Amino acid sequence: MYEVSSVIHVHSKYSDGSGEIPEIARYASEVGVDVVLMTDHNTLRPLKDGLEGWYDSTLVLIGTEINDQKNENHYLAFGIANTFDNRLPATEYVKRIKDEGGIGFVAHPFEKRRHMKEHPPYPWTAWESEDFTGIEVWNHMSEWIEGLTEQNKYQRFVHPLKSISAPDPKALKIWDEHAKKRPIVGIGGVDAHAHKQNVLGFFEVEIFPYKVLFKSVRTIILCNEELNRDNSPQSIESNKNLIYSALKEGRCYIGNFYHADTRGFKFFAESGDRIYQMGERIPSELKKTRFRVNLPNVIGEIKLVKNGEVIDSLLGSEAIWEIVNHGIYRIEVYLDDNAWIFSNHIRFG
Ligand SMILES: [Zn+2]
Ligand SMILES: [Zn+2]
Repeated sequence: MYEVSSVIHVHSKYSDGSGEIPEIARYASEVGVDVVLMTDHNTLRPLKDGLEGWYDSTLVLIGTEINDQKNENHYLAFGIANTFDNRLPATEYVKRIKDEGGIGFVAHPFEKRRHMKEHPPYPWTAWESEDFTGIEVWNHMSEWIEGLTEQNKYQRFVHPLKSISAPDPKALKIWDEHAKKRPIVGIGGVDAHAHKQNVLGFFEVEIFPYKVLFKSVRTIILCNEELNRDNSPQSIESNKNLIYSALKEGRCYIGNFYHADTRGFKFFAESGDRIYQMGERIPSELKKTRFRVNLPNVIGEIKLVKNGEVIDSLLGSEAIWEIVNHGIYRIEVYLDDNAWIFSNHIRFG
């Protein structure tokens, strides 16, 4: 498996972001991001303008963030050639993206922010859909704005990374609930715009610079092969297939790089005569399985979550559990009580 650290959910000047794509890619490259997944609102123009490809050591791929007529039901879509009419209901664009072979993620599902008139909440309401690939269970921007008060506003603008702590518990809960019925992939997004904002009435700051955000919530994707490092159309196509198929299958986890680099984290199952990765299902004929977790050279609190409930936790750099009960299992890791890693599920039975 090849670990690819990605930043998902980024806006540029093609919609309401403040940066150009080559500039965004350069910031990403400077902080060691392998892949940036762009999601400008309701447009795939940067794709048509030929902006996908490598910029230094960072690969840019282009999707879009779609919304409905009420500006609700934001959906991060990748692997499609065209956007959709905003008059379509969310269930319909979600289905069409799937039918076209694309993938998509419910964005910031439970936004309830009310603090800034110019950033109203955009919740997800179309839960009846059975076609979405996954859910953005951690959205940096939503969490940051939701926690904003008159009192902490200055601190939060100055320390954007310190002031976010964990995925929304409601998003984790609905993820686990839906994942009991069918595989649902969890991802983390930044929702970066680098808006210019007037803070205290007399000076303007950028909330948040792209480069700052790129050091926080990432989705680490496990690819079957190494990415091709050139910009030929074939290489770009094969890189897209590697990345989008890993995301579709749930071979990924969320890590907050603000606390530490997560690369080297492993969660897999040994059962029968093979290994099962995140996103995979261990057949029920197998009577038992062994889950293994490895952390990259740190001691953390490793929690085993079954069907949405924490069933065990331990402090260490590795963990082994022998499991006989069917369910959907995932891992959470905390460093000094800070939420650090959220894996995808392995299904047993
Ligand atoms: Zn959105
Ligand atoms: Zn967005």
